Amino acid sequence: MSLLVVGSVAFDALESPFGKVDRTVGGAATYFAVAASFFTHVNLVAIVGEDFTEEHANIFARRRIDTRGLERVPGNSFFWAGRYSDNLNERVTLATELNVFETFNPKLPEEYRDSRYVFLANIDPTLQRSVLTQVRRKPKVVALDTMNYWIERTPGELREVLRHTDVLMINDSETRQLSNEHNLLLAAKHIFKMGPKSLVIKRGEHGATLVDSKGVFCVPAFPLEEPQDPTGAGDSFAGGFMGYVASAGSTTDAVLRRAMVYGSVLGSFAVERFGLDRLRTLKKREIDARARHFLKLTQFRL
Ligand code: AMP
Repeated sequence: MSLLVVGSVAFDALESPFGKVDRTVGGAATYFAVAASFFTHVNLVAIVGEDFTEEHANIFARRRIDTRGLERVPGNSFFWAGRYSDNLNERVTLATELNVFETFNPKLPEEYRDSRYVFLANIDPTLQRSVLTQVRRKPKVVALDTMNYWIERTPGELREVLRHTDVLMINDSETRQLSNEHNLLLAAKHIFKMGPKSLVIKRGEHGATLVDSKGVFCVPAFPLEEPQDPTGAGDSFAGGFMGYVASAGSTTDAVLRRAMVYGSVLGSFAVERFGLDRLRTLKKREIDARARHFLKLTQFRL
C-alpha cells in the first residue's frame, strides 16, 4: 500500500552534549520517509535547492523511496540549526533559513494521486490542505503533524485541514495549546470535535499515548543509556506508525496498538546517533527484535 508524505527535506546543523554536525541531511519528511520505508512503499513530495546533490538523494534511493515528487529548484535547500540542553529535553532553534522552502507549492505527480495513506508533515496548513485536494480518492488514513507556529498564526486554516484528518500526531504542549485544555483526555475530546478520530500524543522520553473512541493506549519510550540526538524522533515515530498501518491495510484497535509500538521503536533508533546515521544502517530484523523487546518491557500478570 502506497504511503504519501509531504514535508521538509533539509540540511540540519545539530549540537548536543554528545557532539556536533555542521551540515547533515534532515527534514521532517526525510525522517518520516526513511522510517516508513521499512514497512511499505513511500512516495515523497518535497522541495530542495541545487545544493542537494544526487549523493544526498542517495539516502532515499537506498531505501527505495519514490522521489518523483522531490522538486529541485535554483537556490539553497531549507536549513535548520538546533542545540540541545545537557539532558536533551530542551532544544533551542539557532537558525531557520527557509530558502527554497518559502516557494514550496506541493504538486503531486500523477502516479502519487492514488495514494491510500497520507502523512502531512509539519508545514503550512494551507499547503497540507492543497495536497489532500490533489489526491483522487478519499484516502484510507490521513495523518497530520503541526506545531505551535501554525496553531497561533493560522488557526482557521489549521481547523480546515483538521476537518479532513483522521489521525493527529502532535506533542503534549501542542495538544494543550490546540485544545485550550490542560488535561490530555479532555484535550482529546475537544480535538475529536475538530475532525480527527484518533489523537497520538508524542511525549519524548515518556513515550506516546493513543486516544480514540476505543479508549487509551500508552507505549513507553525504549530505555536507552545514551541517546545522542533527539532530532527527528517525532517524525521517525510517525514514519514507523504510518508505515506499519499502511502495510497492515487496516486501522483496527490491534493494528493501531502495534503501530504505536513500531512508532516508538523507530523513534528510539533515530535518537541513538546523530541525524539519520542510525536509520541509515538499520535492518528490519533489528526493528522486529526491538518490537519484541517492548513486549518484555510492558507485560505483567495480575
Ligand atoms: P523534530 O525533531 O521532530 O522537530 O524534527 C526536526 C526536523 O524538522 C529537522 O530535521 C528540521 O530540518 C525540520 N524542521 C525544523 N523546523 C521546521 C519547520 N519550521 N518546518 C518544517 N520542518 C522543520
